[in-house]
Amino acid sequence: MSSAKSSKSVCVVGAGALGLTTALKLARRGFDVTVVERASGIGGLADAWRVGDITWDRHYHVTLLSDSHTRTLAEEIGIGDRFDWRETRTGFYSESKLYSMSNSVEFLKFPPLRFLDKIRLGFTIFYCARIKNWRRLEKVTVGDWLTRWSGKRTFESMWLPLLKSKLGDNYRDTSAAFIWATINRMYAARRSGLKKEMFGYVRGGYATFNDALGRALDAAGVRLQTGVAVKSVVPLDAGVSVTTQRESGLVEESKFDHVVMTVQTPVTAALVPNLSDTEKRRLNDIRYMGVVCASVLLKKPLGGYYVTNITDPGFPFTGVIEMTALVDADQVDGHHLVYLPKYVSSDDPLLKASDEDIKASFLQGLFRMYPQLTEEDVEAFRISRVSHVMALPTIDYSTKVPGVATSLSGVSVVTSAQIVNGTLNVNETIALAERSLPELIKRIDASSATHINEEAHELSATG
Ligand SMILES: Cc1cc2nc3c(=O)[nH]c(=O)nc-3n(C[C@H](O)[C@H](O)[C@H](O)COP(=O)(O)OP(=O)(O)OC[C@H]3O[C@@H](n4cnc5c(N)ncnc54)[C@H](O)[C@@H]3O)c2cc1C
Repeated sequence: MSSAKSSKSVCVVGAGALGLTTALKLARRGFDVTVVERASGIGGLADAWRVGDITWDRHYHVTLLSDSHTRTLAEEIGIGDRFDWRETRTGFYSESKLYSMSNSVEFLKFPPLRFLDKIRLGFTIFYCARIKNWRRLEKVTVGDWLTRWSGKRTFESMWLPLLKSKLGDNYRDTSAAFIWATINRMYAARRSGLKKEMFGYVRGGYATFNDALGRALDAAGVRLQTGVAVKSVVPLDAGVSVTTQRESGLVEESKFDHVVMTVQTPVTAALVPNLSDTEKRRLNDIRYMGVVCASVLLKKPLGGYYVTNITDPGFPFTGVIEMTALVDADQVDGHHLVYLPKYVSSDDPLLKASDEDIKASFLQGLFRMYPQLTEEDVEAFRISRVSHVMALPTIDYSTKVPGVATSLSGVSVVTSAQIVNGTLNVNETIALAERSLPELIKRIDASSATHINEEAHELSATG
């Protein structure tokens, strides 16, 4: 790690959880850091927006009691005491009925599965949670692995709808490491001695988290540029040139000693033209899942389950997240906030469907599941579409992932695609930022230091 104060200038591209954490850690080690973010605010996938007259997360977010990296960062930025913790319930919508599946007794009573199927299902989860060498699970598809341990019937009636709900048809190419990571995240708290998993949220939602992170960055001397899209990153004889474009159309060029790309891998391939063809291919070959996620503000509660998994076919969304089964009503002015996510491939036509079409089909599905609801109960409906959310853990994924180093001494990559044995969540993202730091600092220290914090100069104004 770098010890002495360094005046090396670093540009971090992207102000999601990864870029913000990386920037904070670098600034606290003495680097002169600028974060450049295309959106008008910070937080990336974990940002907040308005639905009706409330502000809450654009995508549903829960923190687990075992999310130690998130909780430590929250302490560091002064909001460690702002978490509320709850025991939540999980529902299953199966054969046109809602079932609670929140404990072992309910699991044993779950009618859609026969007794023997339940034993095999329970054993699969128990066994999976105890596997240490996750790399061997990368060699087999999740479908084959689950069928082997749970049996064909349980796979088709239980696992398949759940896999499809998170992966769409991409489940066919996903390795069993995915289910290992998912089960291990849910088991983490129990391993640490707790009998039950507790779910939590920061009061005020991720807006509280991002605001506190913004203040910590400011205090550490980080310059934060929002509404500024990076257009290209080109190495110079000394340092790296970063061309950006503001929302107004203004194009500028700045020079830094080092640039850290925290964006999704195809974005890095497109923004850094001097990477080798092999590097670009590696970045572009990573397959991503996208999401269409509706925030729905209701007058009435639903079933009281934080997550309701759907095993019946024919629903336009892949699960129901009743946020207000976790979050206190006073946080959302007494409304009921529900998310309807549909995970899709990054090129799925649904990502381009109109708001009206998505709203009509999603509400139809919601009313089918909860016949007590009508149009009258819907106070607001807003749709988020993101084409690149999560890198798909395909067969032998860990051997395909790009490292931090690139062939360009002034450019490094720290991206969520480098999470190889975990699920995509803020805790893993912060952990990634932390473990990438030693290599990043070595590379920054080794990069040339001619242009330090040179003022941006205007190239052209196109807007
Ligand atoms: C539907 C959904 C539900 C989730 N639920 C949970 C949950 O319950 N718990 C949990 O812990 N996590 C959850 N997550 C995951 C969590 O949001 C992510 O792990 C985390 O936010 C990823 O951060 P990131 O910085 O890697 O990526 P991002 O947040 O995608 O950040 C990348 C940033 O780069 C910016 N950018 C892109 N191109 C450019 C450019 N050219 N110039 C400048 N900036 C650029 C983007 O605007 C973005 O802000 C959820 C995610 C989704 C989508």
